[in-house]
This record gives sequence, structure tokens and C-alpha cells, in this order.
Amino acid sequence: MTANTGAILERQRAFFSSGKTREHAFRVEQLRKLRDAIRSREDPVMEALKEDLGKPPFESYAGEIGILYLEIAHTLRHLNEWMKTRSVPTPILHFPSTSAIHWQPYGAALIIGPWNYPFQLILAPLVGAIAAGNCAVLKPSELAPRTSSTVAALVAETFPDDYIAAVEGGVEETREILRERFDTIFFTGGTAVGRIVMEAAAKHLTPVTLELGGKSPTIVDRDARLDCAARRIAWGKFFNAGQTCLAPDYLLVHRDVREPFLEEMTKTLRAFYGDDPRRSPDYARIINDRHFRRIAALMEEGRILHGGETDPGERYIAPTLIGNVTLEDLIMREEIFGPLLPVLSFTELDEAIDLVNRLPRPLALYLFSESAGRQERVLARTSSGGGCINDTISHVGSQELPFGGIGDSGMGAYHGRYSFEAFSQARGILKRSTRIDMPLRYPPYRGRISLLKRLFRILG
Ligand code: NAD
Repeated sequence: MTANTGAILERQRAFFSSGKTREHAFRVEQLRKLRDAIRSREDPVMEALKEDLGKPPFESYAGEIGILYLEIAHTLRHLNEWMKTRSVPTPILHFPSTSAIHWQPYGAALIIGPWNYPFQLILAPLVGAIAAGNCAVLKPSELAPRTSSTVAALVAETFPDDYIAAVEGGVEETREILRERFDTIFFTGGTAVGRIVMEAAAKHLTPVTLELGGKSPTIVDRDARLDCAARRIAWGKFFNAGQTCLAPDYLLVHRDVREPFLEEMTKTLRAFYGDDPRRSPDYARIINDRHFRRIAALMEEGRILHGGETDPGERYIAPTLIGNVTLEDLIMREEIFGPLLPVLSFTELDEAIDLVNRLPRPLALYLFSESAGRQERVLARTSSGGGCINDTISHVGSQELPFGGIGDSGMGAYHGRYSFEAFSQARGILKRSTRIDMPLRYPPYRGRISLLKRLFRILG
């Protein structure tokens, strides 16, 4: 496997050196090829996702395929403008000069994907890599094997491997791949593996973008519109059976509205999935037995308020609300990544803020409140990669917003222009005229220090 990736990488370096990937027309052509390749495989992709995750076709299209079309279309619309060298002012000290930022592709990128959105999360970064003029090696997740082989076939049939290649494999193979010297690494996955990736990257001083997970808090304040909040929270939480990096992880509900809100949640879940969600065609399954057991064990603490049914044979876990939870319980100590929603309560908004701040900084924060002042207060006093006010997970679908984490939930961001920048080096170039050559800066310096100080005082 290493020899294979090593050989691919060598060919990619040679191709990158040819300068071809830097041409605007080439990038546009490749993005169109990628779009067409996805378009002609929509059915096999949805079948693969059904087999790997029991994903409802609606969720496969919305969360894995449609979102890629939007990303590619947005990139095609703006690429010309993004690629333009950007002129910036030059400090007077450097007169007569001009300054500009040139967007330089890194070279060969490694993109490693997770299993929960195994199609979208390996190809969305690729859009950025192509747009910025890089070559790329993709490593899809082995835990979604049908989708992994579908991605590998799509890549092999669409691009020559000296430009873009897919290498399949699990932990051992990924470790081997990480020994190679890439020019940038884009990783999506868990925080623990993110550390392993960063350590491997450090050996070669390779820059990394880490898109990790975490516990995204969802605050429902006293003045929230409860029916709307319940629908939007239930949708964001139980989409893909809770296996979404930025799904609401736990709820913080104002005590005054806890009971009516829980009633709305129960009503909403019945309306979404019927009395037996197992029979709903719109509800996904857990990826594998290991995760099924892990999530089922999290239900052992606290009190089930709604749901709680499981079926190991189908890897089915019902949409579940859990009360009587403390911060010491396992469910509040690790990312849930499944269809369980612990419900905690607060009386003063500051209590909710303090609780959020006691846990590692999350990928997203959601707040349901009609008050601009309280919205401001929560945003000003908390920290997260991104989030929504009066909604959940929707910010991930905007090509105008940077998507990424902070602290334990990751570093760097992508989508739209931010993807282009994630795969580019912003190369600052100062261009100086040779017509004037001020002697002040050249040695011997003797006698010039006071003049220098005066100059800096005037400029500073
Ligand atoms: P993971 O970290 O287990 O695996 C991700 C990738 O890393 C896979 O391709 C896997 O083959 C590889 N890998 C696993 N163990 C490895 C090791 N020891 N050494 C080298 N490579 C290894 O993540 P996952 O279980 O596939 O995905 C779930 C996690 O990903 C959750 O924590 C979730 O929050 C996070 N996630 C984040 C985002 C985001 O955009 N921020 C999106 C989806 C998922």
C-alpha cells in the first residue's frame, strides 16, 4: 500500500510540476467532470449509502449529493474572482513598491474522510483542492465499504491517478499513507484520530485542516417558539440517526418551558417517524455493531423520557430523549454521535452559558430565543466553530460561511471561498521599483539611528 501511494505521489508531483493544474480552464474542466461523474452515478451512490447506513434517499440526496452540486456550482461561479491576484496597499516605508497576494496551490493534498457522510465529506474537500490547483489522494472511510468502493471507482473512471487518486483501506493503511510527505492534509473524523494525523503531519511540517467532532450544545430559552424549535432540533438531531458531526448533542432547556417543550418534541417525533420509527422509511440505522453497543450503553444512565427501543439485529436505536443526566454521566463526557438527546435544564441563562463553557469548545452551538439581547449575550460569552440561532445544522449548507471547528473540534475551515483558501498558500509578494534606491537602510549605519527613530515615530 505505501509503495503504491508513494508511487502515485511521485507521479502527482511530476504532474503538478508541469503547471497544468494551475490553469483556470483546467480547474473548471475538472470541476465539471466531477459534477458530471456524480450526476451519472446518483442511483449507485444512494444504493451504497442505503447499504452502509440505511440512509433514506431523501437524506442521501440532501446531505451527500445535492450539497456537492451547490458547492461545485458556487465554485465554478466564483473561481475566476478567487484566483485573481489580490492587490493590497503598501506601507509608505517601502515606496516605490506595489504589494499583492498570489494564491499558490500547495501541491499534492491528502484528504481523509469519515463514514457518516462518506460520499460528501470526501468529495467536498476535493472541490476545494481542485479549485485551488492541487493534485489529491483521497482515502475514504473503510467503515462505509460500499460507498468507499463507489468513490474509488468514480475517481478512477474520471481522473488519471497522477492528478487525483483514491486509495482504499483501514487504520493500518491510513497510518502507512500518513508516513508519506504530502503538501497539505485535510482530515475529517474524530478528535482522537485528528491528533494522530497532526502528529504524523508534524514529521514533515505538513499543514493540516482538521474537521473534528464534539458535543454541540443546544439551548432552548424561555422565549423560544417551542413548536418550531422542537421541529428544527428533532430534524437536526435525528437526521442520519444522529450520526452527524454537528448534530445537537445535548439540550439545555429553560425550566419554565421544559414540560411544554418536551411535549412538543414528543409530538414532533410522532409526526416525523410515526408510532414505530423502526418502520419509518425516513429513519437511518447505526453504522456498525461496535457503535450500536457504544450508543446503547450510553442509555444505561439517566431516565428515558421518550423512545429507548433498540434492535441489535437491525442496528436500530429509536429517537430517544433522556432526562436526569449529570455532567459526570458518560453521555455528557463523550460525543454521542447517535440518536440520543440528553435534556438538561437551567433557570438563568448564565447557568447555561457556564455549563457550555465547562466542556471542550464544540463544532456548533445552537440557540433558540426570540430576544436579540439574549442571542448576543450567548454569542459573546461562548465559543464554537459555528452554529445557528433558531435552527440547527443549516449553516453547513451555506457556501458563504466558513465551516470548521475550534479547539477540540478542529482547526481551519472550508466551503466556498474558504475551501479555496484552505488548499492555497496566500503568497505575499512585494514588487519594488529600481528607479529609486534609498541608501538609509544599507550599512554602514553609523549616525543614522536617530534619523531612523524619527522616521518610525512619524510612520508609527
Ligand atoms: P475516525 O476518526 O474514526 O475515522 C476517520 C478516518 O480516519 C477514516 O478514514 C479512518 O480510516 C481513519 N482512521 C481511523 N483510525 C485511524 C488511526 N488510528 N490512524 C490513522 N487513521 C485512522 O472518524 P469516524 O468514526 O469515521 O467519524 C466520526 C467522527 O468524525 C465523529 O467524531 C464526528 O464528529 C467527526 N466528524 C466531523 C466532521 C466535521 O466536518 N467536522 C464531519 C463528520 C464527522
